[in-house]
Order: sequence, then structure tokens, then C-alpha cells
Amino acid sequence: MSADTSKVHIGLILPDVLGTYGDSGNATVLCKRLEWRGIAAMVVPVRISEPTPASLDLYVLGGGEDDAQALAADYLREDPGLLRAAERGAVIVGVCAGLQVLGASFTTSDGAVHRGLGLLDVTTKPGERRSVGEVVVQPNPLFGGNPLTGFENHMGVTSVGPDSVPLGRVQRGTGNGDRSEGAVRGHVLATYLHGPVLARNPELADLVLGWVVGHPPPPLEVPEIELLRQERLTRRRAR
Ligand code: GLN
Repeated sequence: MSADTSKVHIGLILPDVLGTYGDSGNATVLCKRLEWRGIAAMVVPVRISEPTPASLDLYVLGGGEDDAQALAADYLREDPGLLRAAERGAVIVGVCAGLQVLGASFTTSDGAVHRGLGLLDVTTKPGERRSVGEVVVQPNPLFGGNPLTGFENHMGVTSVGPDSVPLGRVQRGTGNGDRSEGAVRGHVLATYLHGPVLARNPELADLVLGWVVGHPPPPLEVPEIELLRQERLTRRRAR
């Protein structure tokens, strides 16, 4: 935990730029799941042109349009905070544009190639068509047991290099584009799943929180969550 060890600090990175798909909710979910267990936590929004504190425990980046993510990548390469935090092993979660920005490079639909932050060994290029719809992913056993669900909306097709591993295998939907989904390297985890993904998949939220607090958090679920999970697994279309 960071300097004020009484609280877990969750950086919500550029919600004004990467806020299009509701992924800022991931920060709220992480904060609430800590508080429900009696652990003090707070969300620290970091807007464009504000320096990113390097001392936070956990950072989340959401999805956005091509121009927005190019702006975010330029900003986060110049502003040292997030890269410094990554060097000391801080936990980072990226969704969609966030995944692409955390990678080595991404090519936007206009053909421009942009450098990413290099925290994940992934490169992204535009696919032939936009992938939109519900996704079901069987996670790599290292990252969970139950299938993950979410929705996707992206042009990018991502290849994962040897220095990262996919988060899981796609059972329904597109994900990275080669039946793999997302990428993980150390405590940097990224996915194409919106939802927000950590609201729809509490086990994934707790995996990440376990990395932050140093041990798996105690169970929290109410029985109705299992019914909801089953309903989402059988969903055909986003709604
Ligand atoms: N602009 C990126 C793409 O279309 C990311 C989209 C998103 O974050 N949903 O691939």
C-alpha cells in the first residue's frame, strides 16, 4: 500500500479522455469491495494535464475512441507517474483502449502508428471490421475459474508477444482476434471486456485486489450473484 498505509489509493487514469465506455466504474467497484471488507480505500481521479502520482496502489484505465487513446498514450509517456509506479510493481488494469495504450504500439484506423507505454508485450492493428457484442472468456487458470463475461466494441486486433500471457480464451465474441483475450504481465492486467468488467466479474476484481493487499480477500458474494452470472453467460446480445 502507498505512503498513507491506512488507505488503498486507486488511481482512475484520465476519466475525461478514457471514459467513453463506463469503465470508470471499475475504480468504484474496487473501492467498494475493499470498503465492504473494512479496508479503507479511495479513488483518485487523474485528469489530463494533471500529474499522475507514482505512489498509488492501483491504477485503472478505460476505453475510448482512437483519438482519445492516442492523446492518452502521448500524455502517459511524457508524464512519468504511471511508468514509475509500474517500475515498482504497482497493479494496473486496462480496458480496451487502455489495453492498447499499455502495449508496445497500436495502429489507429487512420493508419497512424502510435507508441504505447510498453508495459504489456502486445501490439494492436485495425481489424477488418468492428467487433461489437457480448463476450465470454474462459480465463487462464492463473487468473480465475469461472468464465468472464463482458461486452466489446473495438476495431483493434491485438497480438500478445512472449513477455505477456493472454488473460484467457474466447468462447464467444472476438477479444484479441485470434481466440485469445486480454493480456497479463506481472501485475499489469488488460482486457477488451467492458461492463464494467470488474462489476460483472467479481472474481477478477478480487484477483486484482489480492495483488494489492498481498493475499486473497475473503469471500463477499451474495447468492443472487450466481444467478446473474448464469444469465449473462447465456446472453446473445448486449442490452
Ligand atoms: N479505439 C479502440 C478500437 O476501436 C478502442 C475502443 C474501445 O476502447 N472500446 O480498437
